[in-house]
Amino acid sequence: MRDILKKALPQADERALERFEIYQRLLGEWNERMNLTAITDPVEVAEKHFADSLAALPYLKPGMKVIDVGTGAGFPGVPLLIMEPRLDLTLADSLQKRLTFLDALLQELGLTAELVHGRAEDLGQNRLYRERYDIALSRAVASLPVLLELTTPFVKVGGTAIAYKGDAAAELENAKGAAFLLHVQLRTVALDSDLGKRCLVFADKAAPTPKQYPRKAGTPNKKPL
Ligand code: SAM
Repeated sequence: MRDILKKALPQADERALERFEIYQRLLGEWNERMNLTAITDPVEVAEKHFADSLAALPYLKPGMKVIDVGTGAGFPGVPLLIMEPRLDLTLADSLQKRLTFLDALLQELGLTAELVHGRAEDLGQNRLYRERYDIALSRAVASLPVLLELTTPFVKVGGTAIAYKGDAAAELENAKGAAFLLHVQLRTVALDSDLGKRCLVFADKAAPTPKQYPRKAGTPNKKPL
């Protein structure tokens, strides 16, 4: 297991590798009881979940306030926290059972993050979370126009929502209207990845999110901006 992790995560030191090993084990054990991920092969978990999650690491600094929206089994937030434990991280998901897993996982890892149960549409209108974060991360949650409405309300003016995407060209075209309405500017960074075409889409927030966004739960998906 350690060799697989070392190969997939060359930037991880011994302490981080130890934690990724615990993560692998718990993910496997809990996945037998609840549906956390379809990926179970250790090499694939290391490459498609752990290594892929680290793509945003160069853009994060110690002490930054970061929220992972629709974190599921902790991706990308937990691998990033393993590499940079000084992040002020919030993990949000609408499914309570995933947060139960994350609570147990963080305890075993000896790491701290805030766990928040709720839909992004509701949390984004809650003053405890709205415009409080430097960075909002999301991976495999929704198409870009929907994602911008779900994530950018969490970000302070001057902050950034970062979406992990495959080939984002078509989605970028469709997201122009949403970006305009939500006062963000989009840019893309291609990733050097063995997993096919991967990129990070950055939405830089230039002005506060208009009050009506995010709209009520379900509407962003049904009627994307
Ligand atoms: N980000 C993880 C990853 O990359 O493996 C999980 C991806 S999973 C396909 C999508 C996750 O987003 C699920 O855990 C789901 O519960 C959550 N989710 C979907 N829509 C959401 C919403 N509107 N608000 C909060 N969480 C949401």
